[in-house]
Amino acid sequence: MASSTADNVLPKALQFHSASPLVDIGANLTHESFDRDLEDVIARAQAAKVNTLIVTGTDLAHAEQAVELAKQYPSVYATAGVHPHDASGWSVELAHKMKALHALPQVVAVGECGLDFNRNFSTPAEQEHAFEAQLALAVESGLPLFLHERDAGVRMREILTAWRDDIRDAVIHCFTADRDTLHGYLDLDMHIGLTGWICDERRGHHLRPLVNDIPLERLMVETDCPYLLPRNLPAKLKGRRHEPALLPWIVKEIAQWRGISEAKLGSATTRTAQRFFRLPTES
Ligand SMILES: [Zn+2]
Repeated sequence: MASSTADNVLPKALQFHSASPLVDIGANLTHESFDRDLEDVIARAQAAKVNTLIVTGTDLAHAEQAVELAKQYPSVYATAGVHPHDASGWSVELAHKMKALHALPQVVAVGECGLDFNRNFSTPAEQEHAFEAQLALAVESGLPLFLHERDAGVRMREILTAWRDDIRDAVIHCFTADRDTLHGYLDLDMHIGLTGWICDERRGHHLRPLVNDIPLERLMVETDCPYLLPRNLPAKLKGRRHEPALLPWIVKEIAQWRGISEAKLGSATTRTAQRFFRLPTES
């Protein structure tokens, strides 16, 4: 049956091709909202020149699903970790299963892991325990870290400072904090992932001047889809589900605040992502 209805194509006004190939370093494509049309979503990303997608694995089941997608699509890679919200479920057995995933060629980072003291779905003590266990797994595997931090910048920096000599590299994904927190991470030689948060004139305002403080070789871009639909889109999107094909709109916004071309910003973030995640450079 032809399933090509209006809601599985992007409105014309939103079809915006990137000036240079992009890597979406944070796409939650195992989210149930993509079950119905994942193939179309990946095809639309390719058409927009978002050539490479790194699917975030936020717990064991989602990390395993992300690996399956990476096996299925050559342009897709996976991360494997346990989100701070789920830290209360951390166990030695889970650590062994994660370690096995980290050994797979499809897995390019340990995470999403870190600290979230905003909602405390797991207690701070549980979060720190699961986080440090995953830092140890990153040291063991030699993989970089894909980190989540919300309202926990001070503690995060203390922990990362203690581990910095042993871990290879880390990116603070969906960075939304203040200037001091940003500089604390940059002083630790961390990478920064920016999302469509910066397109939000209500809560992303403070990020706009900060984009100039991030060296291009430390900056990567991500949708964090299906969450965080950018607010700079020139047309309404039915269902309001964010997807990788919309990443060029985020690049456009960051380039504007930085005062450089979208092509230059796009190619720099792609080079950085290829080096950081050790992706094949033809991607
Ligand atoms: Zn996150």
